[in-house]
Amino acid sequence: MKLKDRSLFREAALVGGDWVQASADNHIAVDNPATGEIIGHVPNLGAAETRAAIESARIAQKGWAARTAKDRAIVLRKWFELMMENKEDLGKILTLEQGKPLAEAMGEIAYGASFIEWFAEEGRRINGDVIPGHQPDKRIMVMKQPIGVVAAITPWNFPNAMITRKAGPAFAAGCAMVLKPASQTPFSAIAIAILAERAGLPGGLFSVVTGSAREIGGEMTANPTVRKLTFTGSTEVGAGLYRQSAPTIKKLGLELGGNAPFIVFDDADLDAAVEGAIIAKFRNNGQTCVCANRIYVQERVYDAFAEKLAGAVDKLVTGNGFDEGVILGPLIDRAALEKVEEHVADALGKGAKTITGGKRLSMGNTFYEPTVLADVTAEMTVAREETFGPVAPLFRFKDEADVIRQANDTEFGLASYFYAKDMARVFRVAEALEYGMVGVNTGLISTAEAPFGGVKLSGLGREGSRYGIDEFLELKYVCLGGV
Ligand code: ADP
Repeated sequence: MKLKDRSLFREAALVGGDWVQASADNHIAVDNPATGEIIGHVPNLGAAETRAAIESARIAQKGWAARTAKDRAIVLRKWFELMMENKEDLGKILTLEQGKPLAEAMGEIAYGASFIEWFAEEGRRINGDVIPGHQPDKRIMVMKQPIGVVAAITPWNFPNAMITRKAGPAFAAGCAMVLKPASQTPFSAIAIAILAERAGLPGGLFSVVTGSAREIGGEMTANPTVRKLTFTGSTEVGAGLYRQSAPTIKKLGLELGGNAPFIVFDDADLDAAVEGAIIAKFRNNGQTCVCANRIYVQERVYDAFAEKLAGAVDKLVTGNGFDEGVILGPLIDRAALEKVEEHVADALGKGAKTITGGKRLSMGNTFYEPTVLADVTAEMTVAREETFGPVAPLFRFKDEADVIRQANDTEFGLASYFYAKDMARVFRVAEALEYGMVGVNTGLISTAEAPFGGVKLSGLGREGSRYGIDEFLELKYVCLGGV
């Protein structure tokens, strides 16, 4: 891998403004999921370093919050520009450690940077209220103040954007942040921290602590200085962090798992629905929490849709994300591949049929054929759990009431999608789906302008949009008497 700026790939963590190098006897090895090769090492840090980072954040946050919103916006804007200027290098680092094709990785950098840009702007509009008083001599004032020190834990599937979506609003609001990136993809986090330094973010305001999830997460949740924990990852780990945060009553932001339905009604534009399904299902090789996990197709158009989808899937080229023309990369690791195999075997064992794909590829231990399964039913594991891989299971449904019942029959509630033309139906179905997000006639819904988040076991809070900054603010009510 050739970078224009080699200094963006650094084998060190950032703790309270100081870079800590990976040492020979205490490090984590990071591999390239496409080849299994070790690409570098990061320090294996724990509770002590996390505590030090939190203490530095506490001090740095005071000075940062005292600056004007415009001052903060100038630094964030510079950070955004540096990310865009270094999009190619950041994309290459991302592909190297995560596997997604380079074009998609660079797309993630632009998407990730857009949260810094958006919140740089939004930070200048953190307006309070003046409310008419309840007594003649009283005035009611509401201020919005930064919550303080924020801890963030992020996953490997979006090594850049899941960080910026949290860091943008946190810094714009006047907070400090201590981040633990996923151990599979720490180099993207480190690279954006290098750019944050160059943009002028004060030392200690942003730490990137690599290492033991249990130790770092333990300190982050136990430490009373941390007032907010923001996490993106599995529901299981999120629930654990929620529990651990109870004694210190932290504010929680949780972006957890999904089980997205993708519904194709018989009045839909089938070609558009196929195009949307390809994006919603196969983006990042099926490894996103908003990926279509269950595709419901109305009886009358089921066969036609299945055929068109299989045709489109057959055109998807799987391979090393650095190779020209590759659209689908590897899965993140061997365990991810085995999960996909188990889900497919379970479905086939219970009566599903393979229309295309259905087995691992011979390129290594992390590649799986893009797959379409037909005749899938609610009894199969694919209906209940996120497959997190390139498998599109097709369910058949009769009518609107039937499909809404099936779509809502899950403990998750993150993204949902449907294709239909009838306007009344569009409203009815959008209102009936028990999800935080609904894509109507589109398979791609994430953007900095919109509130991203889920209901039920999919999480708490929203990221992005004008609502996203509220998560990092506290309201203060000031009652003015004697007026
Ligand atoms: P995924 O399925 O995306 O790997 P995880 O929830 O396992 O989701 O991981 C998401 C993030 O949470 C990663 O940064 C991981 O290291 C971290 N993590 C995993 N277990 C814990 C834990 N017990 N405490 C704190 N963080 C954790």
